Amino acid sequence: MSARSGVVYLVGAGPGDPGLITVRALELLETADVVLHDRLIPAGALDATRPDAEVVDVGKRPGGDAAGQPEIEALMVEHARAGRSVVRLKGGDPFTFGRGGEEAEALAAADVDFEVVPGVTAGVAAPAYAGIPVTHRDDASAVAFVTGHEDPGKDEPALDWDALAAFPGTLAIYMGVRRLPELADRLVAAGRSADEPAAVVERGTMSGQRSVTAPLGELAAAADGAGVRAPAIVVVGAVAARGDAIAWLERRPLHGRRVVVTRARAQASGLARTLRSLGANVVELPAIRIEPRIDSDEVRRAVDDLYSYALVCLTSPNGVTLLFEAMAAAGRDARALANATVAAIGPGTAHALGEHGVIADVVPAESVAEALVEALSEIELEGRPVLVARAAEARDVLPDALRERGAEVDVVALYETVAERPDDAAIDAARDADYVTFTSSSTVRNLVRAVGDRLPAAARVVSIGPVTSAAARESGLEVDVEAERHDIEGLVEALVADAAPH
Ligand code: SAH
Repeated sequence: MSARSGVVYLVGAGPGDPGLITVRALELLETADVVLHDRLIPAGALDATRPDAEVVDVGKRPGGDAAGQPEIEALMVEHARAGRSVVRLKGGDPFTFGRGGEEAEALAAADVDFEVVPGVTAGVAAPAYAGIPVTHRDDASAVAFVTGHEDPGKDEPALDWDALAAFPGTLAIYMGVRRLPELADRLVAAGRSADEPAAVVERGTMSGQRSVTAPLGELAAAADGAGVRAPAIVVVGAVAARGDAIAWLERRPLHGRRVVVTRARAQASGLARTLRSLGANVVELPAIRIEPRIDSDEVRRAVDDLYSYALVCLTSPNGVTLLFEAMAAAGRDARALANATVAAIGPGTAHALGEHGVIADVVPAESVAEALVEALSEIELEGRPVLVARAAEARDVLPDALRERGAEVDVVALYETVAERPDDAAIDAARDADYVTFTSSSTVRNLVRAVGDRLPAAARVVSIGPVTSAAARESGLEVDVEAERHDIEGLVEALVADAAPH
């Protein structure tokens, strides 16, 4: 159900991993007129908002300081009264140390309709991602959510240290890193054992997550030694000792590594997704862009005559997407290919065809023109019309070979790859990368041309194969890792092997 006008939604965004936002939260973000969000929200959470939505960061105003609580409450009321649907997006869960309770009260007092969408709270999620179950049959049958932030100026009730020390279960302490030495001392002074297992989980569920485990009496020094900062959750209780056996996130092969992907945005998603699933913090720094050319006369003619071709060859997933776009613009669908043998240059292209309901007749295992020529050797081509639909700057291996076999070949360019200057934010994010990956010589050349001396200095350069490596060296880069198999999986394999502790 989409966001209703005049209603304010107090929505939890989860602790940081973009996958931990709820379905309900996404649905509301996609439809809201206004989004008022905190600073600590998952990366990409706002990508789903409508292009015309008003999105305001109330955690940080243009001037630099945060909007005050009364101001936020007034904004929500004002927008709702003007008939807009409002999402008030908060990190974690809105009612757990998020001041969501106060905001709901303000809305109730102003007679504004509201709903609450709970979120995954950091006190449960950060420990879970560090392998610490906040309750356990053997160790803890209760868990307390505690704030470590006591601000005398804010009239917050003071913590009852005796009660906390006596609490029969796990303490999950929010906002406690800065005061960790004092927190630990007070708990021990009030009777909690200095030997009790404890842990601090920094940036829980995010790609930079780190955890430090130590007995309560030594935790502050250990956390300080490791340079742990907010946001972090402090866990006190026997369960903290279980992280060693259960930890999983921090064991993923690329955990904590920042990896730059330089492919065109339209092609980057597969590689980026694989790297993320291995734990990497991926920075997309596209140096080329796909420029569609489907409005040309040659494409229009080819689409009009599609049914007359005996063979249609597609040489990239982009080509497939754009051919179907061109077909749709001419009022056609997959049936226009009914007469033709359909050939894909490799599994990725065949998969893209499959998404349009077309099962490719010919698919070589390796995605190169030579392999496709070989795979087509059984097909009768003498005097038959063939369409090769591809990128403007492709090699002529395929059309030349088909012509040699007597085919009447039409070649049409569905798109061009053009240089693109990555934005400054991405260049900055890439600066302390551990790896930069290159999947083609054109991405190397364009990236070096566009970014030049602002390339991450300490990063190891990973290349998909010898041609790309040569281009990298020509551009003045040293290649540290070259894939043995010259495809995306091969590149990922080589990167993971390089990142493994030797
Ligand atoms: N409403 C939020 C908490 C807001 S208070 C929730 O339900 O999670 C802010 C505190 O939450 C931080 O100081 C920190 O202690 C904790 N926190 C939030 N995100 C965190 C994360 N990703 N990892 C560890 N702690 C986090």
